[in-house]
Amino acid sequence: MLTLKNIHKTYTAGGTDVAALKGVSLNFRKSEFVAILGPSGCGKTTLLNIIGGLDRYSDGDLKIGGRSTKEFKDRDWDTYRNHSVGFVFQSYNLIPHQSVLRNVELALTLSGVSRAERRRRAKEALEKVGLGDQLHKKPAQMSGGQMQRVAIARALVNNPEILLADEPTGALDTATSVQIMEILKEIANERLIIMVTHNPELAEYYATRTVRLLDGEIVSDSNPYTEEWPAPEKPKKRKKEKHTSMSFFTALALSLNNLMTKKARTFLTSFAGSIGIIGIALILALSNGVQTYIDAVQEDTLSTYPLSIEAENVDMSSMLTTLTGMHSGESDHEKDRIYPNEVLYDLINTMNSLETDTNNLAAFKKYLDSNPEGLQDHVSAIRYGYGQSLSVFVKDPEGSIVQSDLNDLVARIMGADMEEMQSSIPMANMMSTTPAFSNGMQLWEEMLTDKDSGKLNPLLYEQYDLIHGSWPDA
Ligand code: ADP
Ligand code: MG
Repeated sequence: MLTLKNIHKTYTAGGTDVAALKGVSLNFRKSEFVAILGPSGCGKTTLLNIIGGLDRYSDGDLKIGGRSTKEFKDRDWDTYRNHSVGFVFQSYNLIPHQSVLRNVELALTLSGVSRAERRRRAKEALEKVGLGDQLHKKPAQMSGGQMQRVAIARALVNNPEILLADEPTGALDTATSVQIMEILKEIANERLIIMVTHNPELAEYYATRTVRLLDGEIVSDSNPYTEEWPAPEKPKKRKKEKHTSMSFFTALALSLNNLMTKKARTFLTSFAGSIGIIGIALILALSNGVQTYIDAVQEDTLSTYPLSIEAENVDMSSMLTTLTGMHSGESDHEKDRIYPNEVLYDLINTMNSLETDTNNLAAFKKYLDSNPEGLQDHVSAIRYGYGQSLSVFVKDPEGSIVQSDLNDLVARIMGADMEEMQSSIPMANMMSTTPAFSNGMQLWEEMLTDKDSGKLNPLLYEQYDLIHGSWPDA
């Protein structure tokens, strides 16, 4: 059935090589009960894993039914593991949240057998190990011996030719170990069992052959088998082996089942996941909202204090520099005289000598009208002013007609002619030409309109509340 030829296994751990197996050669009969004995660390598990296809040998050859595994593909190993070998481990390796029956059934899901057939065979295997009445218990509700029997049933449900057991009684008391050994012994009548054990007495009593291992080498074999396995006659014409398969529906049902048996964990995972998503959404919303807010503030501010370009421009900053520089280095004269304070004189002087720049507004308007670099997309409105003010007249409480203009009003209150004052005092002149001041001085203002449609600019509806009457439509 199985032949190992000079098998070597070297692990590389942390840069150093560990030779776990150093040339193991063994030949197994079709049905026998082989016990492998040896101290801890001598390579027993490694050997079993290589025989079962769970691990690869570094050198040598493993022949299965006369066929070398040297050119085995992953798919061949899958088929071998699923149809020819059953495993039993010291720690049972059962799925805790599934019933005993499901645990055994699961071993069949990869072999492409129908659900009803799976159930029937799982029941049968469990009856064989004496657990026919415990089908619906969970592993945690069972004793160690019972769990190991479930594991044996699971290993047998595929009806494999080889059963591999790694210290199956290592965690069990003597009485329970004997029960397990009895079951294994019975199974060994019709198949090959290779069992690793620490217990020489059990091996002596139950096994038909004992192999002792030391430091990766065989030191004794109580019943060696030398006959060569015949090579398969025509490998090409071999009966088509059933390959490992699982239907899509089975896979889906399995996943769903796993999710549902761990409801709390599934819920928590989804919850934690959604916290992450919500967090990201919040951050996006926040940054988006802040940007929108900044845009709104910008628009509000710019509509209250629009960028404004005048035909004549006073350089206010140069005036401020002159004013602040005036009082420096004041007392460099003799202290026994009286000097005039020229601050006011200097101030007036500065104002009169203020430089005014002149802008070519006609050229600038032409430039704006050409829509340079898509300017129109970035401004709310452009308004051109031509220095005309409306002359609106109203009746005062006494019934006499007056001009409704702030300049006129101030002039009448102060009893002086504002126009005259403006021309004589540069400061007043400056106030009327500086937009922030002059806008405040006017009662009547042209509304923003869209150049193309002649309708009111939408900005107005946002910036002002209509208290009485209606918006003009032209
Ligand atoms: P046993 O089952 O007889 O106690 P193992 O087969 O588990 O022994 O291990 C044999 C040797 O190989 C030990 O020295 C162990 O440290 C080493 N070994 C086993 N598995 C690995 C691994 N995955 N990586 C590195 N060294 C390993
Ligand atoms: Mg081991």
